[in-house]
Amino acid sequence: MLHQKYPLKWNKKNFSIKIFCSIPNIATGILIKAGKTYLVVDPGDGILRDINKEIIPKKILTISDLFITHGHHDHIGGAWSLLTYMRVMNKKTPLSIHFPAGCVEIESIYNAFKKVYSKTIPYQISLNVITGSKSYKSNGVTIKPFPVIHKEYLNDGVTTKQVPALGYKFTYEDLNICYGGDTAYCTDLVKNAKGSDLAIIEAGHDEDTHDEIHMTLKEAKSIGQSAREYFLVHVPE
Ligand SMILES: [Zn+2]
Repeated sequence: MLHQKYPLKWNKKNFSIKIFCSIPNIATGILIKAGKTYLVVDPGDGILRDINKEIIPKKILTISDLFITHGHHDHIGGAWSLLTYMRVMNKKTPLSIHFPAGCVEIESIYNAFKKVYSKTIPYQISLNVITGSKSYKSNGVTIKPFPVIHKEYLNDGVTTKQVPALGYKFTYEDLNICYGGDTAYCTDLVKNAKGSDLAIIEAGHDEDTHDEIHMTLKEAKSIGQSAREYFLVHVPE
């Protein structure tokens, strides 16, 4: 079994990414810097602590976009802290939260935050509920969302259902980073990862047999190798 050592860092020209961690059922946390723009992807538990070690508070307050791949706790557990920190520290610039339509977890965190602090939130929050896979631009970065296959077990422990889940391809200047989020092997990820400057591919399935929740190490590597460089993440520890 492969043991990934975090943080993982990648940096080309004015585009960089730091993956603080990505441990299944525990936490994921990713910071992207494109020029002077900071984006957070999958704010799992500990994201604020990790970002605070990385950049000064003034810069934390300039974070303009929050991208959610899906609503599992290991991908959004730190969202409340981040939103509240920005309130307490008096963030003035707007924040966009991008997430797949139907992601009730992040909607609920946002609604609770609005309810608790009602009129005392100093910054504007806009929600970008993603339904398709059309490219768009936000703060100088081009974002291409794409659907991925990620299922979860129902209470019976046998039946599975698809959760709202996306991967994102981020392009800045002439470089791009493809992050699949949590996903089983799927053609949309294969297509988007191919030829990308960096692919971040999960290998969360413990066994060698294909399933519809995570990828095996072999599946993940086969996709990663189609990119110029790749990181394998979300590997069980
Ligand atoms: Zn998940």
